[in-house]
Amino acid sequence: MVHETAYYDLLGVNPKASQDELKKAYRKLALKYHPDKNPSEGEKFKHISQAYEVLSDAKKRDLYDQGGEQAIKEGGMGGGSSPMDIFNMFFGGGGRMQRERRGKNVVHQLEVTLEEIYNGATRKLGLQKNIICEKCEGYGGKKGALEKCSNCKGKGVQIRVQQIGPGMIQQIQSMCSDCQGQGEKFNSKDRCKSCNGHKVERKKKILEVHIDKGMKDGQKITFHGEGDQEPGLEPGDVLIVLDQKEHSVFQRQSDNLVMKMSIKLSEALCGFKKTIQTLDKRTLVINSLPGEVIKHGDAKCVQNEGMPMYRNPCEKGQLYINFQVEFPEKDWLPEHLMYQLERLLPPREDVMLTDDMEEVDLSDVDIRSQERNFGREAYEEDDEGPRGGVQCQTQ
Ligand SMILES: [Zn+2]
Ligand SMILES: [Zn+2]
Repeated sequence: MVHETAYYDLLGVNPKASQDELKKAYRKLALKYHPDKNPSEGEKFKHISQAYEVLSDAKKRDLYDQGGEQAIKEGGMGGGSSPMDIFNMFFGGGGRMQRERRGKNVVHQLEVTLEEIYNGATRKLGLQKNIICEKCEGYGGKKGALEKCSNCKGKGVQIRVQQIGPGMIQQIQSMCSDCQGQGEKFNSKDRCKSCNGHKVERKKKILEVHIDKGMKDGQKITFHGEGDQEPGLEPGDVLIVLDQKEHSVFQRQSDNLVMKMSIKLSEALCGFKKTIQTLDKRTLVINSLPGEVIKHGDAKCVQNEGMPMYRNPCEKGQLYINFQVEFPEKDWLPEHLMYQLERLLPPREDVMLTDDMEEVDLSDVDIRSQERNFGREAYEEDDEGPRGGVQCQTQ
């Protein structure tokens, strides 16, 4: 049996992805394919939502991992919520009741650098939004001048009769285009010239987004009542969702920063002094302690050089440094000098050879094919049946 990964592929994540990775992937794609931004991609938006609905729920994800989409369907666990409900739940769009009295919320993603989150920043964001026409105050024309629409006779709908075959006609009902389904309209002389009777105007609005020190990837900044205006409705909110770009040196892990540092073998054994450029452009100098040996894969930390804490920016997390020791290449030292080096290093262990021992050769390992085998093994571990490489290992 082949494991299905379609849901993971849809979200562009690895089947081993953490909940955080899933959230981030969904957030990006849902905003990209939301019908407001991409009206022609409704199917894609639906599929992304389905995938996220299943994978974000531990039970459903388990079921999917075991039996794929089929298992989800058979278990009656699919298609519970509409894509819009999932979206609104994720971004906090408010319940149905609230949506009826209020205009809908608008969600925008704002790409920010780690430096901006570390230092704090103000970004200006230009948004197009509907604003109630000032000239007619959202009425659409001269007060009291509304007339019954002559096109639809006040019904708001148009009925079109179409011949679809000999002697066969079809009635198609659609919204009246003259009055936009209102049943009433202004005649051209009473119509507001400013909004052309639409009651609202599309205007550009600049929002100043304050990014506070220590804010997190995915954090929302809410601008209350800055959504589209519509007569008779309280405007919804504009939600700005921060999307942190990857940094070339530092990775953020909650309030800590993590970085890699390569050191030479001589530095690992004999000590070193190294500099680090911080995100606010200071230079830190780190020293190894006298006599200290740094091993490959060792982690050390610098206190109070991590991320500033949100709303308490004087406090910072830690900076973790993961060391990688660069060993010299093969044949770096002439053989006659090896002896001198060996005298300085801790003594090596000798083996007393006896007759019942076997001497064998060491050869290089093809790491890539090993990883491939290992990956497959982990993935198919509950499969039955013999398989070349794995069989050898278990015998
Ligand atoms: Zn009409
Ligand atoms: Zn107007």
